[in-house]
Amino acid sequence: MKPQIEIVTGDITTLPVDVIVNAANPSLLGGGGVDGAIHRAAGPALLEACKVVRQQQGECAPGHAVITLAGNLPAKAVIHTVGPVWQGGDHQEARILEEAYRNSLALAAANNYRTIAFPAISTGVYGFPRAAAAEIAIRTISDYLTRRPLPERVYCVCYDEENARLYQRLLTQQGNDT
Ligand code: ADP
Repeated sequence: MKPQIEIVTGDITTLPVDVIVNAANPSLLGGGGVDGAIHRAAGPALLEACKVVRQQQGECAPGHAVITLAGNLPAKAVIHTVGPVWQGGDHQEARILEEAYRNSLALAAANNYRTIAFPAISTGVYGFPRAAAAEIAIRTISDYLTRRPLPERVYCVCYDEENARLYQRLLTQQGNDT
């Protein structure tokens, strides 16, 4: 199956997809950036759901992902994944970022979701260089979609135009390579 990746500029909380991905921190109890925006838009039910997961499973390790309800969001569910904190590049950051994307896609598929939206995981407070993170995102998602029936469509949500152009360039390059 051909990869179905679409680049979107804007606020991930507004998207009417099956599942949106949160760039969470290991506590799962909310934070700033996209995490804060998702919790604000979803309402208190999301934090309650995260607390239940936290009680059952403890913290979420970098590269792992968990799923909850979506509260007031237009999405049906939220997948919370923890990206790597950038520490210069020789602390498995690339591998952990790939895992965060792959585990999120696998969790969406396991729940029979067809459409999923990702933010640019780790590129805010966690400091992962944007170009390298975008390359990993596009490559990992594309590899996954090539080999699996679900999800059917993935939206990469960029908060600003500059990041969206970066993603678009990578996607076009990759399309030309295959
Ligand atoms: P991390 O801790 O994983 O770095 P951040 O939330 O700090 O997570 O940033 C991740 C990315 O999400 C950044 O590129 C940031 O610009 C982007 N972002 C912030 N708010 C939103 C939003 N509402 N929708 C989509 N992307 C967002």
